[in-house]
Amino acid sequence: MKKHNYSAGPCILPQEVFEQASQAVLDFNQSGLSILEISHRSKEFVEVMEEARQLALELLGLENKGYKALFLQGGASMQFLMVPYNLLQNKAAYLNTGTWSTKAIKEGKFFGEVVEVGSSADKDFRYIPTGYEIPQDADYFHCTSNNTIYGTQMKSFPEVSQPLVCDMSSDIFSRQLDFSKFDLIYAGAQKNMGPAGTALVVIKEDILGKVTRSIPSMMDYQVHLNKASMFNTPAVFAVYVSMLTMRWLKNKGGIAGIEPLNQKKADLLYGEIDRSELFQGYARKEDRSNMNATFSLKDDSLKERFDSMWNEAGVNGLNGHRSLGGYRASMYNAMNLESVQVLVEVMQELERRA
Ligand SMILES: *Cc1c(COP(=O)(O)O)cnc(C)c1O
Repeated sequence: MKKHNYSAGPCILPQEVFEQASQAVLDFNQSGLSILEISHRSKEFVEVMEEARQLALELLGLENKGYKALFLQGGASMQFLMVPYNLLQNKAAYLNTGTWSTKAIKEGKFFGEVVEVGSSADKDFRYIPTGYEIPQDADYFHCTSNNTIYGTQMKSFPEVSQPLVCDMSSDIFSRQLDFSKFDLIYAGAQKNMGPAGTALVVIKEDILGKVTRSIPSMMDYQVHLNKASMFNTPAVFAVYVSMLTMRWLKNKGGIAGIEPLNQKKADLLYGEIDRSELFQGYARKEDRSNMNATFSLKDDSLKERFDSMWNEAGVNGLNGHRSLGGYRASMYNAMNLESVQVLVEVMQELERRA
């Protein structure tokens, strides 16, 4: 039986993407070759890469606006250092909203001064800080749009005069934003756009070339841009499956088409967390993530019963991050409303039995 997969990442992808990808493993576009064995320099794969780069810009509404898309390796974690390598001359401003921002800040410090302009560490990252000031002389401002572990999401972004850099790993393509406000967006594919193995980087080209340090080729965005994301062998299969997922999303009406469903799923689950006497949410209400809902049982003695109930209902991956415990329901684009209904029914059944 197919599970209701709430894993934070690698995560659920559309069933039709799994089917298309498995077909391509056997015979890619009737080429007589598997997607796993074709040359990355073949015409067929160059077309896949170009479609993937194009779709990313199209879905974000960033075509013909000076942006380019790359599919790089090393995950979002590599971007924690590529960003400062390419952009940090003296000083950068970072907003600390949790584990991932903390890691990005750590890497930034290898390259210059990092000013933590705001942090929600004082309340275990349950909220998104506001009212912070960004130094005028910062080379860029970095934030994390959605904190995958604590279940918080930035609902608005500050107006900044410097380049705005955002780690959108866990909510890319999930909600409409004015993406042209951002100068660099990155996302590990395995949260909401594909399998593990590649990271999408969308860059407004005019922010590059401002640092004086020399940059090793693999770390240099300009090198990857000049080679159309083919400086070295890309993650062929991961890019292909990401492309299929973006095609699927485009056919659903793009971000505008999927956003109402994401809202419905989040409303349904948070509604139950708030209604039920048995559960409590982790994040401050106004900062709750529509992608990763974090919650826990008020009474831990019900844990064993609840865990076996959701397991039996075919729910997978509901345990909270190992650093936080409790539960985390990741409801990425490919998750149906029905899967959330299944979870909510289990929560209600627990209440009846408790
Ligand atoms: C998962 C995650 C990362 C790390 O991604 P990797 O691809 O594993 O390096 C970074 N930022 C956010 C917001 C994440 O959710």
